[in-house]
Amino acid sequence: MQTLPTPPTTSDPSSQTFVDTTIQRRKTRPVQVGNVTIGGGAPVVVQSMINEDTLDIEGSVAAIRRLHEIGCEIVRVTVPSMAHAYALKDIKQKLAETYQAVPLVADVHHNGMKIALEVAKHVDKVRINPGLYVFEKPKSDRTEYSQAEFDEIGAKIRETLEPLVISLRDQGKAMRIGVNHGSLAERMLFTYGDTPEGMVESAIEFLQICESLNFHNLVISLKASRVPVMVAAYRLMVKRMDELGMNYPLHLGVTEAGDGEYGRIKSTAGLAPLLADGIGDTIRVSITEAPEKEIPVCYSILQALGLRKTMVEYVACPSCGRTLFNLEEVLHKVREATKHLTGLDIAVMGCIVNGPGEMADADYGYVGKQPGYISLYRGREEIKKVPEDQGVTELINLIKADGRWVDP
Ligand code: SF4
Repeated sequence: MQTLPTPPTTSDPSSQTFVDTTIQRRKTRPVQVGNVTIGGGAPVVVQSMINEDTLDIEGSVAAIRRLHEIGCEIVRVTVPSMAHAYALKDIKQKLAETYQAVPLVADVHHNGMKIALEVAKHVDKVRINPGLYVFEKPKSDRTEYSQAEFDEIGAKIRETLEPLVISLRDQGKAMRIGVNHGSLAERMLFTYGDTPEGMVESAIEFLQICESLNFHNLVISLKASRVPVMVAAYRLMVKRMDELGMNYPLHLGVTEAGDGEYGRIKSTAGLAPLLADGIGDTIRVSITEAPEKEIPVCYSILQALGLRKTMVEYVACPSCGRTLFNLEEVLHKVREATKHLTGLDIAVMGCIVNGPGEMADADYGYVGKQPGYISLYRGREEIKKVPEDQGVTELINLIKADGRWVDP
C-alpha cells in the first residue's frame, strides 16, 4: 500500500512560512515638482486637474486652492494658448500671495512648443503628449510609413523638444511624458499598431532625447481608457526601462473612466494591480465629476493597499444570521464618531463567535456579545461589556483613556 507523506503540522512554528505582505515599491529616481517629490521612495503622490479656464485667474486660483486643501498634492491646469501660458504667471503669484505655493503642472497639447517654453517659466512641471507635441495631420490615403519619413519626424521632434528640455533642466523643473492610447502619433500607429508597444516606444523616443540632453527630471504616464491596455502598457514600460537601465517614476491613470460607482471601480481596477506590484509613484483618478471628488478615491485606493494611511481603517463583517445588532447603522455611528482619528484601525463585528478572530488586528473592536450588549476590545483583549445603546460612547471613552483620542 502506498504511504502518503505526513503533512507539516501547523502547531510547529518552524514549519510555517511567513510572507511579507508589505508592497515592495519599484525603485525609481526622485523627481522634484515644487515642494513635492515623485518617486525615490516618497509616498505615492495624489494629483488632479482643475476644469476652470486658465484665463479665469480668480476662478483658477480658487479651484487650485480647493483641491490642495483636501489633499491634492499636485494640480494640473490646461494651457491651450499663449494667453493661457501668461495667465499662469498671475495664478502662481496670486496663490503665493493669498494661500501658498502649490506645485503646478501645465498641460500642453498640439504643436505646443512656444506655449510650453513660456509656461515652463511659471510652473513646476510641463506635461507634453508625444502624440501631439509635433502634430502631423494623418494622411487618409497613407498605406505605409517609410523609415526615412519616420526618422524625418523624429529629427523634427528632437529639434522642437530641445529648447523645452534645456529650459526645464536649467531651472530644475520637471516634465511628464504623458502618452495617451487615444492620441498615438500616426507614425507610431503604422510602426507598432494601436498597441501598448506603440505607447511605450513613443515614451522611449522622448525619454532618449531628454537623456541625450542630460535631463532626468522625468515622469512617464501611459494612460488608456481600457484597463487591460493601460495595465499592459505600464508593465511593458517597466520591462523596457529595466532593459535600458532607466528608473523614471510612473504616473498612473485610467483616462475617461466615466462617473459614479463604475468610474471609481474602473479606476481602481486599473491602478490597484500595478500599485500592488509596486509600480506607480503618483496617481490621478479621472472621473467625470468635480475634481474634488477624485481625491477621496485616490486616498481610498492607496489606503486599501496600505500605501498611505490618511483615514481610519474600518474592518466590519458583512453581517449574517448571527449578527446581534443593526450592523449598518452601528458602523455608520462608529464611523461618524471616529472618522477624524487618522491612523487607527477600528473593527465592528456582529458577534463574538467569529468577530474577535476576524478583526484583522484592529486597534479597537466593537463586537456583538449577546442581545442588547456589545463588548469592546483593545486589540485581541476584551475590555468590557456594555449595553448596546452606550456602545459608541464607551468606545470613545476607551480611546480617550488610551490617550489616542483627539477632538474633531
Ligand atoms: S462576525 Fe459573526 S455576525 Fe459577523 S458575519 Fe461573522 S459570524 Fe456573522
